[in-house]
Amino acid sequence: MHPSEPYLLAASPVMDAVARQTYPVGTLYVVATPIGNVCDISLRALHLLGLADAIACEDTRNTAQLLSRYGITKPLIAAHQHNEREVAEKILARLQAGERIALVSDAGTPGVSDPGAKIVDAVRLGGMQVMPLPGASAAISALSASGLINDQFYFVGFLPAKAGQRESSLRTLLNVPATLIFYEAPHRITDCVQALQTVFQADRQIVFARELTKLFEEIHRCTLAQAAAWLSADPHREKGEYVILLEAAPQARDDEQAEARHMLSILLEECSVKQAASLASKITGQKKNALYQLALEMKQADDSADE
Ligand code: SAM
Repeated sequence: MHPSEPYLLAASPVMDAVARQTYPVGTLYVVATPIGNVCDISLRALHLLGLADAIACEDTRNTAQLLSRYGITKPLIAAHQHNEREVAEKILARLQAGERIALVSDAGTPGVSDPGAKIVDAVRLGGMQVMPLPGASAAISALSASGLINDQFYFVGFLPAKAGQRESSLRTLLNVPATLIFYEAPHRITDCVQALQTVFQADRQIVFARELTKLFEEIHRCTLAQAAAWLSADPHREKGEYVILLEAAPQARDDEQAEARHMLSILLEECSVKQAASLASKITGQKKNALYQLALEMKQADDSADE
C-alpha cells in the first residue's frame, strides 16, 4: 500500500458498513456506472450489484465487462430502447415475487439521455419501490468543472439530428436564464457548434467537456466566436464524447447583477461589507464570494467619492 493512501486501511471496515446497510427486496435499484474511468463507481453500487438477483442493462456485453472488473457475475436482462416496455412488465413481476433488480445503462445515470425511465415508470405504477444509487453523470461532471457561474442549469441533452429542427430547437432556448447543457455525438460536434453560432450571440461563453474521466480528457472554455477555430485546431477534437455548456442568456446575468447591486447598496448603509454580502447571499441565493467582491468594489468606489 502507498503510505499516502491511508483510506485503503479504512476500506475494509467501510465495506462492512456498506454491507450492513438495508437493501429491501422487491425493489428496483437504479445504479449509476462510470462514464469512462472504471473506478468511478460507489461502494454501495458495487455491493448492490453483487447482491441483486439480476441486472437489467442496455448492452449485456458492456455491463458484463464492467462487472468482470469487480469480479461480479450475475444474470443480465437486456433492456434497451426497443424493448423497454415489455421488459418492464417482466421486471415488475420479478420484483413482486420478492427479488432485487438493478438497472444500469452503458454509462452514467440510467434515464438521463439513456433508457430506464419507462421501466421506472412501470415499476412505480405497479406499486413497487424504486431506489437510486447515485454516481457519475456526464452533464453534472461537466457542469461542476465548467466554472460557469449561475445557480440554474437547463439540461437539453441531444439536439435533433436534422439541421432545420436543430436550429428551431435552439431558438426556443435563446432567452433561457440558465446554463444550457447539451450532449452531442462526436460526428455531429462541428454541426452543433455551427448551429450554436448561428443562433446565439458570439460573446457567450462555451465550455467543451471532452472525454471526461478518460485518458484524453480536455475541458476548454472560450467565446462562441472562438469555438469553431478551437475545434478545428486539432483533428482529434472531432472524435470522443462531448458535453457542451453554454453560458446563460445575458439578460439573466444583467438582472442578477442589478438585483445584487440594488440590495448591497441598501445593506452597505447599515452593515459591514462582510455582513452585507452574507445577507444578500441569503436573500438572493447568489454566491457569497461574488457578492463580497462586488460589495467591496462598491464600498471602495463610495469611499473614494467621499474623499
Ligand atoms: N446516461 C449518461 C449520463 O448520465 O451522462 C449519458 C448517456 S448519453 C447516451 C451519452 C452522451 O453523454 C455522449 O454522447 C456525450 O454527450 C455524453 N458523455 C458520456 N460520457 C462522456 C464523457 N466521458 N465525456 C464527455 N461526455 C460524455
